Amino acid sequence: MKWNIVNTGRAAGNRREMLDWSRPLRLVPIWYDWFELREPRRLLSDRHSARATAPAFKKLVDSLTIPQRLIDLEADVTYYEPPADGEPPFRYEVGTLPVLISAPHGAAHRRDGRYKQEDEYTAAFARLLAEHTGAHAIYAHALSENDPNWDRKSPYKTALAGVVGEHDIRFVIDIHGMSDRHKFGVAVGTMRGASCRQRHEALIVEMLRESEFSPATAAEVREFPELRWDRYVLNHSRFTGGLSSHTVTRFAAEELGVPAAQFELCARLRIVQLAGTSKRYNGYRGDPTGIARAMAAFECMVMALGQ
Ligand SMILES: [Zn+2]
Repeated sequence: MKWNIVNTGRAAGNRREMLDWSRPLRLVPIWYDWFELREPRRLLSDRHSARATAPAFKKLVDSLTIPQRLIDLEADVTYYEPPADGEPPFRYEVGTLPVLISAPHGAAHRRDGRYKQEDEYTAAFARLLAEHTGAHAIYAHALSENDPNWDRKSPYKTALAGVVGEHDIRFVIDIHGMSDRHKFGVAVGTMRGASCRQRHEALIVEMLRESEFSPATAAEVREFPELRWDRYVLNHSRFTGGLSSHTVTRFAAEELGVPAAQFELCARLRIVQLAGTSKRYNGYRGDPTGIARAMAAFECMVMALGQ
């Protein structure tokens, strides 16, 4: 009698559902890779101190949850697909804190007639950062026929100007992606101090240092034998944020009168795992600890700049 129930009708359907392990199985290898033993070990060694345990525990939880959330958000981005008819290739999500996070290269775009690859995971990073802080976010989510950042005028910049005016934005954080070959984690570009006030630059540096990113000079990083994602460079000659081109940062500072800064995150600090839709798909995976730490640094930065 029991067998009859199990093998017929709804019961059989439920049973199939219960045995469908595809989701957990898909998650397990990813989480397993990210669960670097370093973090739990630090957690154990810090156990004698309640003060140390809470941040360590938060770091552990973040290194497990943030990557999966980023994967989910990035799945919304169609790198080389144009947007649906009549829709712009970017989106805006309203916030409550007067800081605007921008990711103009979240999807592929056309610069001077040629398509350029996306800065992977910058759209997801901007959205999650906005989710965590209450900031506003604008990001590219589909193929753009212009370069929202490089072109002097772009529909993206027009929309950004609208948000800045309507919501009394106090700071624009423009997020991009750089290659690991530059051998450092974060490039901060303030047009050598021209795109924001000195106190903003000081806050940015302070928040990076609090999240255990250390300063380095362009000369120092050239000598690094390999990537050190926990180093940042302020106004590296290659990443000034807009001294030689008409970036979003320059547009915000010069034309809108709003302080801004450009951030280039190395691949290791943002790409959780390359999606098969990326032109450079090769199974690349970033560092979950680094990604969580970068998110923490930006969260502090957004909160401080929104004051
Ligand atoms: Zn970019």
